[in-house]
Amino acid sequence: MQCPSCRGQLETIKYERVEILQCPLCSGTLLDEPSLNKIEKTRGRFISRNQSHTVTGHYDGPRTCPSCDITMEKVKYGKYSPKTIDRCPQCDVIWLDKGELEDIQVAYEMFDENTNKTKGPQ
Ligand SMILES: [Zn+2]
Ligand SMILES: [Zn+2]
Repeated sequence: MQCPSCRGQLETIKYERVEILQCPLCSGTLLDEPSLNKIEKTRGRFISRNQSHTVTGHYDGPRTCPSCDITMEKVKYGKYSPKTIDRCPQCDVIWLDKGELEDIQVAYEMFDENTNKTKGPQ
């Protein structure tokens, strides 16, 4: 499958024990929603929270689904700090640019921590 962003060839990789497709050239990822939910709930051990993802030259135009070739929809994802992501309405796959997957994970972890804080110490 071809990368919808830079036309590189997508490769299957393991991310947090979940198989997803990633572009070796631009580090964009293609995955389905159950996989994204699984990754989101996994604590990212290697993610530095102080690391800021300043993506330069971020492309925000319409993307074509690498699987079925139709234009992907922009949808909001995430409960705590929603991100705009690209989703194919036909085959239900999600495209994330470099850094967006980590952003979603970090946002979820922060949400999780805040939830624990309101419960107070045991
Ligand atoms: Zn690419
Ligand atoms: Zn599709």
